[in-house]
Amino acid sequence: SRISPFLQYGPTAEADSLAILHLRRDLLIPAVLRSQDDLNEGYDEGKVTNTRFGSFPHSTLIGTPWGSQVRASAVDTGSRGRKGWEGKGKKGQKRKREGQTPEEGIAEKKAKSEDLEREANVGNAEILGQDAGVETKVAVEAASGFVHLLPATPEIWTASLPHRTQVVYTSDYSYILHRIRARPGTVLIEAGAGSGSFTHAAARAVYNGSPSAGVEESATKVLRTDGHGKVYSFEFHEQRAQKLKEELIEHGLDSIVKLTHQDVCQDGFHPGSTKTSSIAANAIFLDLPAPWLALKHLTRSDPSSPLDPTASIYLCTFSPCIEQVQRTITTLRQLGWLEIEMVEIAAKRIEVRRERVGLQEEGLRGVNDSPASVDEALTRLREVERRWRIFHKESAQDGKEAGMEGTPLSCTMQVSKPQRLENIRNALEGRKLYREGRLVHKPEPELKTHTSYLVFAILPRDWTEEDELQAHQQWPAKV
Ligand code: SAM
Repeated sequence: SRISPFLQYGPTAEADSLAILHLRRDLLIPAVLRSQDDLNEGYDEGKVTNTRFGSFPHSTLIGTPWGSQVRASAVDTGSRGRKGWEGKGKKGQKRKREGQTPEEGIAEKKAKSEDLEREANVGNAEILGQDAGVETKVAVEAASGFVHLLPATPEIWTASLPHRTQVVYTSDYSYILHRIRARPGTVLIEAGAGSGSFTHAAARAVYNGSPSAGVEESATKVLRTDGHGKVYSFEFHEQRAQKLKEELIEHGLDSIVKLTHQDVCQDGFHPGSTKTSSIAANAIFLDLPAPWLALKHLTRSDPSSPLDPTASIYLCTFSPCIEQVQRTITTLRQLGWLEIEMVEIAAKRIEVRRERVGLQEEGLRGVNDSPASVDEALTRLREVERRWRIFHKESAQDGKEAGMEGTPLSCTMQVSKPQRLENIRNALEGRKLYREGRLVHKPEPELKTHTSYLVFAILPRDWTEEDELQAHQQWPAKV
């Protein structure tokens, strides 16, 4: 079986794998790339993702290096309309079974393609002809835009996933995973799973390099194989749990994440009904409305405790309100958790870019700084030099007579102006990065809204008499 793209991805987009179409910084569309059209609309091009910036047949995406800019294609969304309805792809077959006539199908397709046309702002739809008395007006979409093709990483997934709940964002989960010491081999408990944003990041953090990493399970016992990272995830909303389960399978993460539909406040953290299993977790993340109600199931005194008896346990709770934080901290204290601390992540975006040498200030008004206009800029530069020469009555003939033909003008002129011209010429011709201007950074003026308060705590491992004895044997006290 193939390794999840969330854990490791190759150089190019692959068929039957998740890819993200990046339209804008705040507009990303996830798509599982299919080379066959039998799951889709019956287009000639195979499966197509339609966006407001145009249509992208998956055949143009599969095999394309990640990060590429891909232009929209002209897609005939209707030429196979009738064939499709007459039983070619799976959808056609399904609709046939549901008793939809080809004419009804074509009419529905027509309405859909008109919607598409509006959405893509295409404007060049054509009447292609008559089909069984129904005008099949189809959008021959213009190649109007482009997308960037990105691999599915947890960060990109967080920015593009379908929201079923509030989600934990990258700025928070990167810090949380660091503080709860999630690393390859960690066994992590998460509740509630919600839309799976944190789940994906956690799965990558604990992944230990083996595609079948995880636990060996039997009906009554769940054993942790040492060093095998695992996420035990819990969600009590049935549809959310089901949807996330499907996503985890589709994303190839189901061997690392075990998702259970369960109320953790009531039933604790044993996946399934058995109380005899021990999942031996050493990191915990609770994104619940009332985390303090779940804490009673995270003690060491319970013989079926889900905690690793041989390790310290690192916990984080995620709550938007300070009252939730207060209740959580009170309960943590009562249950013997230590090093309790609250943190709020105030992430601020900082734009870093190079501020170009002011060509305009240098007398080249109207010259665009973009690389596309280098030729134009050089022509203007020569013109400025020529005028400067005339102005200073330094004719080309003078130069010839002096044996200076071909010598840069700057050698024969006063220092300031020619030197500036020379700098511009170098900047335009050389295009070296360090000549592209000063590095400047601009922080966002305002902080984005508050997300949540993070409460961290540690439950130290139990220290028994046996441990004390062993410690004495290992490190005998010096007398
Ligand atoms: N961390 C998630 C993410 O990054 O996508 C978002 C979690 S969402 C804010 C909180 C979730 O906790 C909801 O989906 C809710 O159904 C679930 N939940 C609330 N109480 C629960 C309980 N007692 N047991 C299990 N899940 C619970």
